[in-house]
Amino acid sequence: MRPEILFPLFAPVTKLPGIGPRIAKLVEKAAGAQIVDLLWHLPTGIIDRRYAPKIADATPGRVATITVQIDRHVPAANKRLPYKVLCSDATGSMVLVFFHARADYLRRTLPEGEQRVVSGSLDKFGGELQMAHPDHIGKLDELERLKTVEPVYPLTQGLSLKVLAKAITGALGQAPDLDEWLDAAYIKRQGWPAWSAAIGAAHAPAGEAALAPTMPERARLAFDELLANQLALALVRINLRRARGRAVEGDGGYRKCVVDALPFKLTGAQVRTLQEITGDMASPLRMHRLLQGDVGAGKTIVALLAMLAAVEAGAQAALLAPTEILTRQHFANIQELIEPLRESQGIEIALLTGREKGKTREGILARLASGETHLVIGTHALFQEHVEFHDLAFVVVDEQHRFGVHQRLALAEKGQAPDVLVMTATPIPRTLTLTFYGDMDVSKLDEKPAGRQPIQTRTISLARLDDVVGAARRALGTGARIYWVCPLVEESETLDLAAAEDRYAHLRSVFGESVGLVHGRMKGADKDAVMAAFAEGGIQILVATTVIEVGVDVPEATVMIVEHAERFGLAQLHQLRGRIGRGAETSTCLLLYGPALGEGARARLNILKDTEDGFRIAEEDLRLRGAGELMGARQSGMPAFRMADMAVHGELLAAARDDARLIIERDPELTGARGAALRVLLYLFERDSAVRLLRSG
Ligand code: ADP
Ligand code: MG
Repeated sequence: MRPEILFPLFAPVTKLPGIGPRIAKLVEKAAGAQIVDLLWHLPTGIIDRRYAPKIADATPGRVATITVQIDRHVPAANKRLPYKVLCSDATGSMVLVFFHARADYLRRTLPEGEQRVVSGSLDKFGGELQMAHPDHIGKLDELERLKTVEPVYPLTQGLSLKVLAKAITGALGQAPDLDEWLDAAYIKRQGWPAWSAAIGAAHAPAGEAALAPTMPERARLAFDELLANQLALALVRINLRRARGRAVEGDGGYRKCVVDALPFKLTGAQVRTLQEITGDMASPLRMHRLLQGDVGAGKTIVALLAMLAAVEAGAQAALLAPTEILTRQHFANIQELIEPLRESQGIEIALLTGREKGKTREGILARLASGETHLVIGTHALFQEHVEFHDLAFVVVDEQHRFGVHQRLALAEKGQAPDVLVMTATPIPRTLTLTFYGDMDVSKLDEKPAGRQPIQTRTISLARLDDVVGAARRALGTGARIYWVCPLVEESETLDLAAAEDRYAHLRSVFGESVGLVHGRMKGADKDAVMAAFAEGGIQILVATTVIEVGVDVPEATVMIVEHAERFGLAQLHQLRGRIGRGAETSTCLLLYGPALGEGARARLNILKDTEDGFRIAEEDLRLRGAGELMGARQSGMPAFRMADMAVHGELLAAARDDARLIIERDPELTGARGAALRVLLYLFERDSAVRLLRSG
C-alpha cells in the first residue's frame, strides 16, 4: 500500500485550487493526471523579468518589468485596431497594447492617474516603445515579486503558461519532506540537496544554466528515478532467484535430430549463445537471461533448440510472443522445424492465443496439464490463471519491448521455477539494456547467417512519389513483393489508419487487386488472411501501419517503402528494414521523407544508409535523440524516464545499479530505516509492483 505521506501527491490535479475539469484535461495532456506528474514536469526555459529599466533606457526585444504612470486610455476605433493605454515615467512614454480587449477590465486594472508595474516583452512600433499584452500587471509593492526569473514549461494547445505555472506552484506546495533514501556519504560527495529541496530548486531556475540536466538538483532527481528503476529490477531478479531453480539437462537427442535436418549450418554466434543458455538450464540456479539479436540473426532456432533441451529432460517449454501474428508465425516456423521430431518421436506442439475457444481450447489446456503437449507457443493467453502445466521448465519470452516485468513474472510463477529466456530483436545500447532488463545475463547473436544480401537503402523526397510508384511498378514486373509502410502520426492511431487507407486507395487505383492493407485495428483472422495472401503472392504490395514491425517473415519481399521515415525512430526503421533482405535476391529500402526535412533528421536517416549494424544504429539514435524517443516511445514499453536522460545520465545509471545491488545485499526486504525510505522512493516513482514482491510489501 502506498504510504500515507504520498497521498497528496497521488491525488488528481483537480484537487489543486483553480483547476476545474476543463483545465484538468489540458494539464493532464501536458504533464499528467496526478499532482506528482506536475512535479516531474520540469521547466525547459526561463523568462528573465529582472531587467527593470527606465522607459528611456529600455531596449525593444527584451522582456522587462517597468514601473509606469497610467496617463490615458485610448479605446480602439474599430475591432481590428488595438485598445491602447498610454503610460510614462520621468524619462519618457510608452504604450500598452491590447487586442480584443475588455475595456472594463482594463479600466479596473490600469486606472488613469495611478502607478503600476507591468512586465512583458517590449517592442518598437512606429517609433513608439510598446508592450503588447503584459504578462503581469501589479501594484507598486509587487515590483520585487514580479522582478523574478520565471520558469517556462512545455505546454499544450489551449493551456497558458500562467495557468500551468500556478498549478505547478500548487503541486510544489503539496510536496512533503521525505526521509532521505540516498546514502548520506554519497549525497554529500555529490553535493546534492534533499529531495524536496531538489524538486523546489528544479522548478525555480535562477538562469538558463540552471536548466542543465547536470545541475545538482536535476542530477539528484535523475538519480532518484534511476535508483527506483534499478531497485525495482533488482527486486524482480531476487524474486525470480528466490524460487530455487532446478537443473534441466537433456541428452541432446532431439536437438541433434532438428539440427541435422536444417538446410543450413548454425552460425558461430548461434552455437555459442545456445551453450550459454543450456549451461544456465543445467545449473540449479534460476536462469534469467536476455538473448539479444538483430532482426534476421536467427533467434528462433536458438530458442527452439533450448526448448528442446527442456523436452529432452522430460519437461515442457513455452514460447510467449507479443502479438497474434507473431505467435502464429512462430508456431508455423517451429512446427516446420520440428517436423522430423514429430514424426519420429511423437513430440507434440500446441498453439494457444485468445482465439482458440470452446472445445478446442479445453482440449489444448487438458493436454498442457497432462503433459501430452511438450511445446506450446502462445500470446499472453498463456499466463492466465487457469492455464496449468504438467511440468513447465523453460519459458522463452519474445519480448520486442511489449511485455512488462510483471507479465514476465506471472509466467515464471507457473510450473516449477522455470528458467526464463527473454528474446529481443531491438539492439539497444548497454545502458538501456540495464534500465529495461536490469542485471539480466546477456547473450548476443552478433553474427548474421551467411549468404545474406546487403540491402540498398535510399532516401527520397515524398515530392517524388510518382517516381517511387514507377519504381514499384518496375519491381512488381520482376515479381517482387513490396511492403509499403505508412506514416506514424503523433499520438493518434486513427490518423495512422486514415493515412494508410488513403495510400491503399491510391495504390489500388494504380495497381488494382494486387494491393492489400493490414493495420492494427483489423480483426486477427482478417489480418492473418491478408498476411497469408502476401506470403503466397496473391497480394504483391502490402500497405501497412507499423503492425508489420513485429512479425512476419516473407523471404520473397524485397522492397520496403516507408513514408515519412523521419517520423520513425531509427531503431524502428532498422526493424522495418529487417523485414526484407531475407532471401537470396537483392533488396531495396526506400525511405521517403516529407518536405522541410531538417539537418538533424537528414543526418539521422543517413545513418541507415551507412550501416546495417543494429547496435551501431541504436547507439547513434541514442546520441542524437535521447532515450525517450529511441524506441519510438508510443509503441515501445520502454520505461519512460521523466527525470533521467540516458544520453546524459549514463554514469548515474551505473552508480544507481551498484547502489541497488548493495542495498539488496544488505537489506533485501527493505526493512531497515533506509529501507523504509527506499520503499517510499519506489512508490514515488510508481514502482508499486516491485514493493509488492517484498514479503511485507
Ligand atoms: P530473428 O528471429 O532473429 O529475426 P529468425 O530466427 O526469424 O531471425 O531467422 C531469420 C531467417 O534466417 C529464417 O528464415 C531462418 O530460417 C534463417 N536462419 C536462421 N539461422 C540461420 C543460419 N545459421 N544460416 C542460414 N539461415 C538461417
Ligand atoms: Mg524472429
